[in-house]
Amino acid sequence: MKTLFFNIKELVQIRDSSTLKVQGEEMKKLPTIKNAFLVVEDEKITDFGSMSDLQNFNADQVIDSRGQMILPAWCDSHTHIVYAGNRESEFVDRINGLSYEEIASKGGGILNSAKKLEESSEQELFEQASQRIKEVMRLGTGAIEIKSGYGLSLESELKMLKVIKMLKDTFAMDIKATFLGAHAFPNQFKENKNAYVDLICDQMIPEVASQNLADFIDVFCEVGYFDVVQTEKILKAGKAYNMIPKIHVNQFNSIGGIEVGVKCKALSVDHLEVMNEDDFEILKGSEVMPVALPSCSYFLSIPYTPARKIIDEGLPLALATDFNPGSTPSGNMNFVVSTACIKMKITPEEAINAATINGAYAMGLSNSSGSITKGKDANLIIYKDIPSLNFIPYAFGSNLIDKVMIKGSFI
Ligand SMILES: [Zn+2]
Repeated sequence: MKTLFFNIKELVQIRDSSTLKVQGEEMKKLPTIKNAFLVVEDEKITDFGSMSDLQNFNADQVIDSRGQMILPAWCDSHTHIVYAGNRESEFVDRINGLSYEEIASKGGGILNSAKKLEESSEQELFEQASQRIKEVMRLGTGAIEIKSGYGLSLESELKMLKVIKMLKDTFAMDIKATFLGAHAFPNQFKENKNAYVDLICDQMIPEVASQNLADFIDVFCEVGYFDVVQTEKILKAGKAYNMIPKIHVNQFNSIGGIEVGVKCKALSVDHLEVMNEDDFEILKGSEVMPVALPSCSYFLSIPYTPARKIIDEGLPLALATDFNPGSTPSGNMNFVVSTACIKMKITPEEAINAATINGAYAMGLSNSSGSITKGKDANLIIYKDIPSLNFIPYAFGSNLIDKVMIKGSFI
């Protein structure tokens, strides 16, 4: 099957295959071709260029894209979309001024999500998550990472990871799985936290690895959750089984987690709402991708990641949703890109780079996603007739997407 798009108003984020990520000043540049063509054969992008260089119109499907811009689909490198039920009553409680403890006693919080998950079957979880996957694909997401972490027991963590495996087998889009047993401490380990760390390292990680259920290992490194010593131990245990580290770090406090991430050669360090000067220095010279989650800051009314400073310091930045029932019940990357521009003062070019090529890097998908590159997957967003690239983040809340293509097929 060969598809030719012609008369494309602007083909955005064209790269050669050697560009794996962009950082600092480079993030201000978003290479495009105006009045372009694009050829898709089966799942892949095989050719593109200026209309003046188009040799012939031979294709099974020829699409006149007059007035339309085409971008690579979004790469969402941080989600928790396998979960049971929603927490909208907690949302209303928070509006009404209830404290975290009062909400937890009424049935809110991570531990209550864990309880609901324990009571749900694999099939129920799969069906709920499938609806969310379908929704985010329609919103232009073409590759996604999904974490476990509402199980907090060997049995329930395996259940979550098996659901992620079912999603991988069902949907065309690339899905990466992350084992996040270290999301919170279960109640029975409140007095002996290291025993839970041992359970993760000695039992959960080997079992998850033996069933080949996780690409990445993740830890919530934060005051009251996993400290830096526990974080390093878990990341190293995962690495021994070929799981690549990613970390939730610096959401509320800077406690040295970024240093642990760099030391363990993490693929990404995520959240980063609270950064001190040392944290920036530690990231410089590393290959770690900083990931900001502006929808989470929006929903919780907490500070935004200092994305402007991260880029001005010469570092790269990726953007992701953090889609989860507690702090970000939204998987809309279009909103993430707008919010990054509006609240974090980064330019549309920087935000689009962060949500495409750098997001792909943060999932280890640099060779297949994140840009218009020959040989990469044909994951595309075809926009309605919009006046300019800047209109995409500017018109926040409007649905500007005409069609989405994932691996060569319209969804
Ligand atoms: Zn998260």
